[in-house]
Amino acid sequence: MRRTPTDELEAKAAALADQFKQAEEQFAAATRWATPSACHESLILAGNVLFAGGTDQVIAVDAATGKTLWTGHVEGTAKGLAAAQGRLFASTDKGLIYSFGPEGSPQSGAVVEPVDERFAHTEVYKAHPEVHAVAHAHPSMATAFGIAGVNILPVGNRGAIFAPKVPILEFDKQIDTPERGRMVVQALGGGCAVVLKNHGVVVTSDTIENVCITLFSLEHGFINVAAGSVNTGSI
Ligand SMILES: [Zn+2]
Repeated sequence: MRRTPTDELEAKAAALADQFKQAEEQFAAATRWATPSACHESLILAGNVLFAGGTDQVIAVDAATGKTLWTGHVEGTAKGLAAAQGRLFASTDKGLIYSFGPEGSPQSGAVVEPVDERFAHTEVYKAHPEVHAVAHAHPSMATAFGIAGVNILPVGNRGAIFAPKVPILEFDKQIDTPERGRMVVQALGGGCAVVLKNHGVVVTSDTIENVCITLFSLEHGFINVAAGSVNTGSI
C-alpha cells in the first residue's frame, strides 16, 4: 500500500517522540538529585556543601545527596554568598552582611550594622535584579576626575564595559537616603559604573568577584585616560 503524506508525518512524529523519550531518560540518568528550593538568588559550592541564598534565608545542602544540612535566617534577600575559613558570608539587599559558622552554629547573625551609605547599594539592587554585587569606594584618581568634571573613557579591552563613558553624578553629599540612592541609579543608567562628584565611585556586577574586577578595571582605565589627557592638556 502506498504511504500517504499523513502516514509519513505520523511516522516522523512517532520517531521524534521516541527520541524525546530517550533524551528524557538520559537526562534523568545524569541527574544525581533534585530538590525544591525557595533559595534561587545565589548559589555557591564550597567543598561538598552547596549554599543557596533566597529571601529571608540561606540554606546549606549536601552536594552529594541533596539533603538540607541547615537553614539560616537573614533579613532581606541574600544576593551574594562567599565561603572562607569554614564560614559562610551572605550579603543582603537590606545592606547587611551575615556570617554563619559550621552547621549554621549560634555564631550566625548579622555581623555588620548597615552603613549610612547602604542606599547606594540597596536602591541599585531594587532597580536592577540582574545586579548581585555593588561596590562603593573612594579611589583617589576617580575622585580627581570627578572633581575635574572629566568623564572617564574606556581604553583597552577591560575598559569596554565602561563604554561610551563613565557618567558623573553632580551631587557631592553622602548617599544616605533612599532618594539619594535613586539618584545614583538614575546616573548609572544602563551602565556598570558612576563617579560621584567630589566623593568616589559606585560600580555594579553580577558577582562579588566580578565587581572587584570592575573596580580595578576602572582604576586601570584611569592610567590610560590620565596619560591621554595630560598629552592633550585637556585637564
Ligand atoms: Zn562614600
